[in-house]
Amino acid sequence: MANSISSVRGTITEVQRFSVHDGPGIRTTVFVKGCNLHCFWCHNPETHRLAPELELHPDRCIGCLACVAACERHCHEVTSEGKVFHREDCIACGACARECFADALHLVGREVSVGEIMGDILADRAFYANSGGGVTISGGEPLLQPEFTAALLTACREEGIHAAIETAVQFPWERVAAVLPLVDLLMMDIKVMDEATHRRVTGVGNARILENARRIAASGKPMIVRTPVVPGVNDTSEAIGEIAAFVRGLPTLQYLDLLPFHPMAAGKYDSLGRAYEARNLPRPTSEHMEALAQRARAEGIEVRLGRN
Ligand code: SF4
Ligand code: SF4
Repeated sequence: MANSISSVRGTITEVQRFSVHDGPGIRTTVFVKGCNLHCFWCHNPETHRLAPELELHPDRCIGCLACVAACERHCHEVTSEGKVFHREDCIACGACARECFADALHLVGREVSVGEIMGDILADRAFYANSGGGVTISGGEPLLQPEFTAALLTACREEGIHAAIETAVQFPWERVAAVLPLVDLLMMDIKVMDEATHRRVTGVGNARILENARRIAASGKPMIVRTPVVPGVNDTSEAIGEIAAFVRGLPTLQYLDLLPFHPMAAGKYDSLGRAYEARNLPRPTSEHMEALAQRARAEGIEVRLGRN
């Protein structure tokens, strides 16, 4: 690998080995930090912001107060009400987390080089070969860090490792097109076809996303479309039918993946000090998911029920 590729740096939250839900076979999934959509039900709030952040897990705290001594900005304070955290003053330097041996503080987000990540990726090369797997770059939004994502994909390509990207494609076409020659598979979400609803639940309209989906398919790139099924957003036969009718027109579609919403991310929002609007939404039942899948299959496409 050329040094110019190996040294490119990006900010990630995690490198997950042995993943079986992010594309074919056994994969290593690299979760990058930062996203340009704001889906209110998102299961990965730790990827929303580009910068590192401190997660707090008060249930693990043993009250040693090492964090109070470690923070020069006095973000951790002991008051008559107990221990309080001044998040607004935190610069995510990680000093307190390094001193917290109870694992009650965790810095999420770290800057890494492509060379460092490739070390992890190559360690599992035999599993990719035996399972038809590879590497998936997910997030967050990989195309918010285009140089890092392109360098990592290039390194995978040089090693002959199958590479996939999971992106919302909410970008000018040029940014999407630049990465297509570097990926074997593109996975993208289509959350809802109605423009106003899409804007209300994600913060952005869907015209560019749908247009990019058409252009990706026209380029010949294999693609998987994923739809998180969220109560009150798109969990009706009509809404899923509209998505299925659209993806039927994408000639390189491998399948539509329907992923049920689950409320298990609430703890992540709490640890980041953020409100979670989807906290009380119910998880769609398996029977309802199967009925929605049948509706989508009526459009003549392959539909899978995935795990979100
Ligand atoms: S260092 Fe960790 S365990 Fe100790 S008081 Fe701070 S948060 Fe609690
Ligand atoms: S991450 Fe740094 S600034 Fe933030 S609370 Fe810990 S020591 Fe203070």
